[in-house]
Amino acid sequence: MLAAMLKAPGSLTIENVEIPKPGPGEVLLKVDACALCGTDKRVLAGEKAVSVPIIGHEIAGTVSAVGPGVNAGIKVGQRYAVQTVIGCGECPMCKVSRENLCEKGFTAIGYAYNGGFSEYMVMPKNAVDQGCLIALPDDMDAEIGTLLEPLSCGINGLRDIPLETMRHVVVIGAGVIGVLNGLIARARGAKRVSIFNRSQDKLDVIAKLGLPFDDLINMSKTDPEAWIKENTGGRGVDCVIVSASVKSLGGQGMKWLARNGHLSLFAGMPKSDSVEPLDLNLIHYSELHIHGANSSVRRDYLEAMTFLSTGKINGKSLITHRYALKEFAQAVKTQNDASSGSLKVIIKP
Ligand SMILES: [Zn+2]
Ligand SMILES: [Zn+2]
Repeated sequence: MLAAMLKAPGSLTIENVEIPKPGPGEVLLKVDACALCGTDKRVLAGEKAVSVPIIGHEIAGTVSAVGPGVNAGIKVGQRYAVQTVIGCGECPMCKVSRENLCEKGFTAIGYAYNGGFSEYMVMPKNAVDQGCLIALPDDMDAEIGTLLEPLSCGINGLRDIPLETMRHVVVIGAGVIGVLNGLIARARGAKRVSIFNRSQDKLDVIAKLGLPFDDLINMSKTDPEAWIKENTGGRGVDCVIVSASVKSLGGQGMKWLARNGHLSLFAGMPKSDSVEPLDLNLIHYSELHIHGANSSVRRDYLEAMTFLSTGKINGKSLITHRYALKEFAQAVKTQNDASSGSLKVIIKP
């Protein structure tokens, strides 16, 4: 089978390797589609370490073989999306199905186990046992299935934010994660959703794709604070979702909030440099709410499935490019170049 093999940071080659055999409790998937993600870009650049040669974690595939002892409900020919996060199964967080907060630190497909940039991949036993195979409805294309993973992360991060009641939500960051967070806010009933970004190119992609946002604001041309004052009668917005890994944006976004407002720190900050002073009195007197976001679990995938299959979120409108596995280098180039008009780039092995 063909696989994109990571040889060293930044060095990836397409190779012919043997199709893996599923061991006891394991499931072999034929990968139908695997989407490129911002994290893959960081791995390829050597900024994030992985312990396997094959990455790719936004996966949809078809069962091609099952190992001995696999639950009889999982059969050859069935189609699944892959839940990335695998917990220890024993800590208090895992016991309540919050493997994304596993106290021993979760492991993940595409990081600790070979991922989806390959014609076939093995789902390890602990993932199968945990329920990481998420059944795809017959009428859901594999391409759309790859969106479940990133969408589920947004659903988890926004879970405790009452978007249904909100008049105005601002998302900082116009990459695919910002877009997905904005679409969730919209789908859950936020009246006005504005996307802020520092450069124009990604905002142009969103405009060109006709995505359902009310405002696309270039923060390097328009003063965001003044814009928010003007557009909210001075009261601030109900929610700011930080979807760009710039640590100053947390404190900045907090100042844009109305009383009782919610700040979602969706994006992770650089691990080496994540400390940013915040005015705690702003939180105290305005009764602000601060939310973290760390991956997702099964319940989030199932909700993502509902959004996509009911059309509340139009997955097709987000997928801009498709490549074969042997065109991997070109796919990465397209993903990294906003002038290509790319939002979600899919590999179809
Ligand atoms: Zn991802
Ligand atoms: Zn655990």
